[in-house]
Amino acid sequence: MASQMIDLSHVIHPGKAGRKFAVEMVGADTVNQKVVRLDGQWYIMHNVSMVNHIATHIEAPYHIIQSGADLSALRLDQLVGEAVLLDLRACPRKTAITEDHVREAAARAGGIRPGDIVFCNLGGAPFFGTEDYALTPYFSPAAIQWLVAQGMKLMGVDASGVEVPRSEQHVNHHALFEKGIPLIENLTNLDRLSTSRFMVYALPVAIAGLDAFPLRVIAVES
Ligand SMILES: [Zn+2]
Repeated sequence: MASQMIDLSHVIHPGKAGRKFAVEMVGADTVNQKVVRLDGQWYIMHNVSMVNHIATHIEAPYHIIQSGADLSALRLDQLVGEAVLLDLRACPRKTAITEDHVREAAARAGGIRPGDIVFCNLGGAPFFGTEDYALTPYFSPAAIQWLVAQGMKLMGVDASGVEVPRSEQHVNHHALFEKGIPLIENLTNLDRLSTSRFMVYALPVAIAGLDAFPLRVIAVES
């Protein structure tokens, strides 16, 4: 049977991305004076100025831990591998996802194995770009700690984050990043997956000294 690829990333529309993502088109010859560009010839490059937490992006531990891994230090084996999908869409919006919720969702998905990538469908993606996106359910610290204890290597959600609202200590960020677990925010298309286990390729550009960056997240179902 042919495998199917599903894009779990949002398309970025510069200028409509909610946060700064400014694109300036320039002639290729303005960047590299050695290239030949005839008058009026379409031969372009771009200057891009942006916030790095935008659209579907990955956060490295360096986001909140000064000594943590930055984008260039993320291990490839954390970014590629088998993933399990937890369906948490039944959790009421604007409320905490409990440990029981994630235990039950994991059981329905056939369990979490050590070294799994864990993606959570919170029913948030349809609201991306609207004010209601902020009402997507969030994780209780016990729920995150239970997921971490199962040995997941990478987490992803269709929400703007996993943090307890207004947590001054950023408890859920710390629970993940102290264990070296990167977090992908603003996933989409999770409802297009037909199985609860699939392969994931989630590869950001390796930029030294950056804590986060947009990336393309691809699921492959066989
Ligand atoms: Zn972020």
